Amino acid sequence: PLVLGIETSCDETGVGLVRGCELLSDEVASSVEQHARFGGVVPEVASRAHLEAMSPTVERALDSAGARLEDVDAIAVTAGPGLAGALLVGVSAAKAYALALDKPLYGVNHLLGHVAVDQLEHGPLPTPCVALLVSGGHTSLLLVRDVATDVRLLGDTVDDAAGEAYDKVARLLGLPYPGGPPIDRAAREGDPLALRFPRGKLGDGSYDFSFSGLKTAVARQVEDGQSNGLQPSVPDIAGAFQESVVDVLTRKAVDACVEYGVGHLVISGGVAANSRLRDLAGQRCAETGVELRIPRPRLCTDNGAMIAALGADIVAAGFPPSPLDLATDTSLPVERPLAG
Ligand code: ATP
Ligand code: MG
Ligand code: FE
Repeated sequence: PLVLGIETSCDETGVGLVRGCELLSDEVASSVEQHARFGGVVPEVASRAHLEAMSPTVERALDSAGARLEDVDAIAVTAGPGLAGALLVGVSAAKAYALALDKPLYGVNHLLGHVAVDQLEHGPLPTPCVALLVSGGHTSLLLVRDVATDVRLLGDTVDDAAGEAYDKVARLLGLPYPGGPPIDRAAREGDPLALRFPRGKLGDGSYDFSFSGLKTAVARQVEDGQSNGLQPSVPDIAGAFQESVVDVLTRKAVDACVEYGVGHLVISGGVAANSRLRDLAGQRCAETGVELRIPRPRLCTDNGAMIAALGADIVAAGFPPSPLDLATDTSLPVERPLAG
């Protein structure tokens, strides 16, 4: 079936068309520039931007796939988690399309969309697999037996998400929002071993993460450097911060693969676009004999194709469609592929 995916959980209006594991189109309109001067997403601004971008983005996705609206067999939409007003725009649009076209509607989990999207690049998900989901709002380690029916949460962040830590540290270092890309770039110019920041929760025997202590350590470093005039360079601080984040992420992910005897690791979410995370994960997986899959950066950040990809799996698993009075769920748990 041809699945139309609609994503509006945060600041990207994403619309994608997918058939099975085949990516037919992926159109994204982002309001990130409107939020940059506030240093974070302003919910009302995001909702308004989604409203304006929705129909044109659907049109573009159909055009670039060479499809017509009538060709669509099912509509998948992010029902949660995310910003309430932003989710509502996408879900309302999806309901309208479903009703007008008389096609089934599926309200799906944004977080599992980040995992399912890998199939559009590398083919069907190897199962079981361990999935490391690293995004702006989440940092979760999952045991995935079937992305549509059987997902188990192994560990989660106890405070900040990895992407949130990048965004906060970028602000401390005077780098622009969102902080991931500029820190990634700055770190390449620095010496990541010039400083050493703490590795939150590493070696504690859990699969949980913590990044707020790291953020505080960076803040203290910046303050101390300002008062004693011995400030390490921004690239050195960025590199040392990044090293701490990716060290913990990759070690815990590979440990989970070993403990559960799983041969495949999938990493995704916005932070999976990070070049150092991709390198170090590759290295550690190679050492352990784990096969690593990370989608291309464009598919790691929010998009509609990931929602269509998960929708296709949910349709294939034979779930009944969502009702047309489907509600959004701002805190939909990661273990629930389908809302409601
Ligand atoms: P969630 O998926 O948890 O609801 P979100 O959808 O806002 O959150 P994503 O769009 O998946 O998150 O990812 C955005 C995050 O990814 C931001 O915090 C951003 O800084 C981070 N990010 C993007 N590119 C990079 C990079 N190259 N290195 C590190 N972080 C990055
Ligand atoms: Mg975003
Ligand atoms: Fe996301």
